[in-house]
Amino acid sequence: MDKNMFASDNYSGICPEAWQAMGEANAGYVNSYGDDHWTGKACDALREFFETDCQVFFVFNGTAANSLALAALCRSYHSIVCHETAHVETDECGASEFFSNGTKILLVGGEHGKVDLDAVTHTIERRSDIHYPKPKVLSITQATELGTVYSVAEVQAVGELARQHQLKLHMDGARFANALAALEVSGKELTWQAGVDVLTFGGTKNGMAVGEAVVFFDQALAEEFDYRCKQAGQLASKMRYLTAPWVGMLQQDVLLRNAAHANRCAQLLAAQLQTVPAVKLVHPVQANGVFVKMPEALIAALHAADWHFYTFIGSGHARFMCSWQSREEDILSFGRELRAIAAAI
Ligand SMILES: *Cc1c(COP(=O)(O)O)cnc(C)c1O
Repeated sequence: MDKNMFASDNYSGICPEAWQAMGEANAGYVNSYGDDHWTGKACDALREFFETDCQVFFVFNGTAANSLALAALCRSYHSIVCHETAHVETDECGASEFFSNGTKILLVGGEHGKVDLDAVTHTIERRSDIHYPKPKVLSITQATELGTVYSVAEVQAVGELARQHQLKLHMDGARFANALAALEVSGKELTWQAGVDVLTFGGTKNGMAVGEAVVFFDQALAEEFDYRCKQAGQLASKMRYLTAPWVGMLQQDVLLRNAAHANRCAQLLAAQLQTVPAVKLVHPVQANGVFVKMPEALIAALHAADWHFYTFIGSGHARFMCSWQSREEDILSFGRELRAIAAAI
C-alpha cells in the first residue's frame, strides 16, 4: 500500500481521461500560445459549463492563477480581504503582493475556514481615510483550506457584502469541483449568479497533470490579462497540453465524477479515523479533506510507520486528503492499521 496516499490531493497522478485527452492532442503540428483548436474548445466548454459568456485563460498552477487574477483587480494602494488560512496568504510566498506591486492583504477570522461576515464588514469599514489601504477585493476559497464548503446562500451573502462596498469577489477554486460535487448545484449558482467576479478553477488536484483556468465572469476585468500571463511566464507555448484535458474532462463529466469520488472517500476516511476514540474531527468533512486532532504519540507512531500526512496546514491539525485516485479498500486497510497502531501505544 502506498503510504503517501493521504498527504495531498496533488500527490495523485493524472486521471485516465485527462491522459487520454493529452494523447489525442499529441498529434501533428498545432498553433502555439493558445491559438489552437484545443484551447478554443476548452474555453467554449467552460462557457457552456458556467452557462455564460465568460473570459477564460489557462496558467500552469494555482499560485499564478490566484495572484495574477488578484493583481488584475487591484492597484498597489488597494487591499484584498481574505481568511487568515487562505492559500493566497499562507502558501503563495507573497505572489499576490508581488504581482500587484504591493497590494496589502487584510486577514479576517471565521469558523472552519470561512470568512466571518461581521469581521469582513469591520475590516472594510473601520477606516475610510487615505492612510488605510483601500479594500478592493474580497477573496474566498471554495472548498476552503479546512475541507469545508460555502453553501450557495453563504456565497450569495459574501457576494452581497462585496457589492455593498464596491468590492470585487474572487474565488480560489483550487477545489471548486469538490465544492460543486458536495452541494450538487450548477456552476453558475455557485459563481456568477452569487456575485463571483473571477474564479480560479483548479484542474491539477482533480486529475490533470498541470493547469488551472482563470474564469472572468466580469469580462471588463479581463482586459490585458493575456499580457499579465505572458509577463509572469505563465503563457504556455504548447498550450494544447494544458487545455485538452479540460475538454476531455468537461465533455465526459469527469471533473465532477472525480470530485464526488474524492468527497465520498473523505467521508469513509473520516469514519475510519473516528473508530479510534482519541481521534477527533476538528472541521466538518464537506469536501475531500479530513482534519483531525489526535495525540502526539499517535501522530508520531503513524509517521514512524511511514504514513505521510501534514500537520502544519490550515488550523495546524493532522490533515488527510483524498483524491480521484483514492481507493476504498486502501482506506479500510489504513483504518485497520490505525487501530492496531493506536492499540499498541
Ligand atoms: C493547491 C491550492 C492552490 C494552488 O497551488 P499551486 O501549488 O500553486 O498550484 C491554490 N489554492 C488552494 C486553496 C490550494 O489548496
